[in-house]
Amino acid sequence: MKRRKEIDDRKKMHSRKTRRKLLGVLLLIVLLGTAGYVFKDWFADEKKPVEVADGIEDQNLEEENGEEEMEPKEVEVEEFVESHEEKPLDREKSVPDMIDLTTLKVGTNHSVGASAYAYSTEMVRNWIWGGVSYEGEKIAFLTFDDGPVKKSEAVLEVLKRRGVPATFFIPGYVLAEHPDEQVLHRYIEEGHAIAVHSYSHVYDTLYPGKLADKEKIVEEFIQTRDLMRKSLGDEFDTRVFRFPGGSMSWKGIDEARSALAEIGVYDMDWNAISGDGEPKSRRPEGPQAMAEHVMFTLSEHWMQDIAVVLMHDTKDITAEYLDQVIDQFESAGYTFGILE
Ligand SMILES: [Zn+2]
Repeated sequence: MKRRKEIDDRKKMHSRKTRRKLLGVLLLIVLLGTAGYVFKDWFADEKKPVEVADGIEDQNLEEENGEEEMEPKEVEVEEFVESHEEKPLDREKSVPDMIDLTTLKVGTNHSVGASAYAYSTEMVRNWIWGGVSYEGEKIAFLTFDDGPVKKSEAVLEVLKRRGVPATFFIPGYVLAEHPDEQVLHRYIEEGHAIAVHSYSHVYDTLYPGKLADKEKIVEEFIQTRDLMRKSLGDEFDTRVFRFPGGSMSWKGIDEARSALAEIGVYDMDWNAISGDGEPKSRRPEGPQAMAEHVMFTLSEHWMQDIAVVLMHDTKDITAEYLDQVIDQFESAGYTFGILE
């Protein structure tokens, strides 16, 4: 019995010791926790003056930091919403940038933007000479032959300033001799159309004995178009041609016209002239007389609602009378078109 009591007493002693130990551990945890809490604040308070050392910049820093600490989630959400809203807007904005209206329209002789005022050469020819009735708005097609040369830049400047498009009939040999390859790009970028005016522009070569050599004419057309493609790329195509001297000056034109039509090419004469290329005996004197000559020659033609005006950008005087020509057509209610 005595031994049993001893054992019980020891057990009690042991459990008391254990309880005391547990209490001690608990107390230590509470003390450490309290100390940690107190010291955490103390360390934080110690840090702040270091962060906001001195100066206005640091005050701003403190304000920024304060905002971030106070409403971090709201700021994040705002940023997300803003960027989320901006993304589709950016895509919309980028769409017009992707369509460059000044670049070449694939498979044509003009830019994408110029499509709005480009007319089929075959159709225009039929309206003027083919007996096909026309009941639309009045259209003027300004056309310039024999360039580009250095002087052509003055003509381009007038057209650019007035916002008027034109069609340029270019002989291949001039292009081969022209040192500036960029000139064709300028025609496209500024809304004009590019057409072929043979390669040689030599009457005896194209019309030996005044009779049109259809094979030679087709050959020179392709030769010139290929030269244009060297500068503008294979996506450029022109199906517009003008016979040097005009189709009315030569025999065998119907055969030559058929040969051109077989490769999808149509020629275009004119129904109004400024007279800048006429022999001196018939040439109007001065810029005003040349501009008036355009409307006079048109008035003598049976078709006046469609005007195809022959001018030359190889003459000094052309840039001088061109403004008046544009004024005349504008006040008469014409719009301006190009030939494709
Ligand atoms: Zn010519």
